[in-house]
Amino acid sequence: MSGSREPGSGDTVVDVVVVGAGFAGLSAAERLVSTGRSVLVLEGRDRVGGRSFSGEVAGVRVDLGATWVARRHTAVRDLASRVGCTMTGQFAEGRNVLWLARRRRTYSGTIPKVSPAALVDMARMQRAVGKLVSTVDVNAAWESPEAARLDAISFGEWLDRKNALPSTRALMTVVSKVQWGCTPGDVSLLHALRYIRAAGGLDHMLDVDGGQQQDRFVETTQEIARRVAEQLGDRVRLETPVDRIAQDDNGVTVRTGSGEIRAQYVIVTASPAHRAAIEFEPALPEQAQGLTRTWRMGVLSKAFVAYEEPFWRADGFSGEGVTDTGTVFITFDVSPAPGGPGVMMAFCDPRVFDGFSPEVRRDRVVRQLADLYGPRARTPIDYVDHCWGAEPFAPGGPNPAVAPYATVSFGEALTEPHGRVHWAGSETAGEWAGSMNGAVLTGQRTAEHVVTLLSRDVREGVSR
Ligand SMILES: Cc1cc2nc3c(=O)[nH]c(=O)nc-3n(C[C@H](O)[C@H](O)[C@H](O)COP(=O)(O)OP(=O)(O)OC[C@H]3O[C@@H](n4cnc5c(N)ncnc54)[C@H](O)[C@@H]3O)c2cc1C
Repeated sequence: MSGSREPGSGDTVVDVVVVGAGFAGLSAAERLVSTGRSVLVLEGRDRVGGRSFSGEVAGVRVDLGATWVARRHTAVRDLASRVGCTMTGQFAEGRNVLWLARRRRTYSGTIPKVSPAALVDMARMQRAVGKLVSTVDVNAAWESPEAARLDAISFGEWLDRKNALPSTRALMTVVSKVQWGCTPGDVSLLHALRYIRAAGGLDHMLDVDGGQQQDRFVETTQEIARRVAEQLGDRVRLETPVDRIAQDDNGVTVRTGSGEIRAQYVIVTASPAHRAAIEFEPALPEQAQGLTRTWRMGVLSKAFVAYEEPFWRADGFSGEGVTDTGTVFITFDVSPAPGGPGVMMAFCDPRVFDGFSPEVRRDRVVRQLADLYGPRARTPIDYVDHCWGAEPFAPGGPNPAVAPYATVSFGEALTEPHGRVHWAGSETAGEWAGSMNGAVLTGQRTAEHVVTLLSRDVREGVSR
């Protein structure tokens, strides 16, 4: 401890305030506590986990937000194993369905049975993406040699310029909707390349076996966060949105609806757009304000449909489907066991989903599953969905949908501290941007940096 008292019983003086109880905030707090620092985590929602959120369908817990971890996501795997959460491989046995550009095909393995011309074009575009990805500095994309050129057009404009065939374009649209929560025309090429690089390349991003969709957690990803929060105890305060952070030479004053907390440093883990809801005194520099205005969140929705059993398996299907035929654009089998219930997870396009009533949303998803997997899909036993764009607090996800010019203009402000205010969170993660793994690593890294500053302050006799 650096001379401070532990929080609790109304004490509001701590070494560090952490804003946000997602993976970044909880990991920062864990690291600070392990070095003997006092910490308070302030979370605006009534739950921990941030973009990790559990739901239930037919008695099965499901991930309404973040789901998968790749083999190389060792930080989040370590965290999960420390709190006793277990992994299961993503089910992928059988034929996949690919229904793009008006053609429905089924195929086994990773190479879809599409026309030779479509395959050649897909390979050509993957090579072109790979070539550009290799030029991007994942830790400072705005400093990449071709940054200005790559940030001046959208991913969609680039696909046009490359004369991508409709089938390739349809697949890239699916990638864009699931990664950035927008269509390719709405995201800067440089931003897309940065996230593709962070995901280990396009192949790794798309793959199940050995790729980004390799494993998921039996207990759900929010349960990992919940268990970490449980260990932190009353250091985590829910329903406590931070609306103002003021700082002077000796420390910071963090304001919430229920009072003020004095600390030496603050770690803000809110995503860039949500930083704008906090008033900073002194104000953020112009570039940092530009970041909050332009790094708007994308939006994505997910639905889970439960059946008596995973009937598609008996028909030889893996449950993995990619389609551009309507609301649902990706499906995966997340059934807990072969005997049932069968649970199909469906990614939904918010533009043709969020605005409808729950009954209409359910009907749209079920009808599309019937198109993909046959008439048995018409008789579900349960259904749940979640629209990330409709969240009342800190809406959006999975990632920012950053338009052209905003990465080069404002990207540097992602991590640049503002005096005693430091930034963490998945967006600041460089080579792990966009993942729970990145969130964990940025929380730990920023906490370590702040611990160094606290030790320096003690040496130099700076007090609150
Ligand atoms: C639908 C979806 C699917 C995803 N799939 C995957 C996946 O399969 N694998 C993967 O690795 N990642 C996935 N992600 C991304 C992953 O969830 C995020 O990268 C990661 O969870 C971000 O963690 P974080 O702590 O940086 O931010 P968050 O989880 O967003 O946490 C930030 C917290 O700060 C709080 N907050 C914001 N402003 C304030 C304020 N003013 N005061 C108090 N609290 C505040 C928010 O409420 C939030 O709880 C997915 C995300 C979504 C939405």
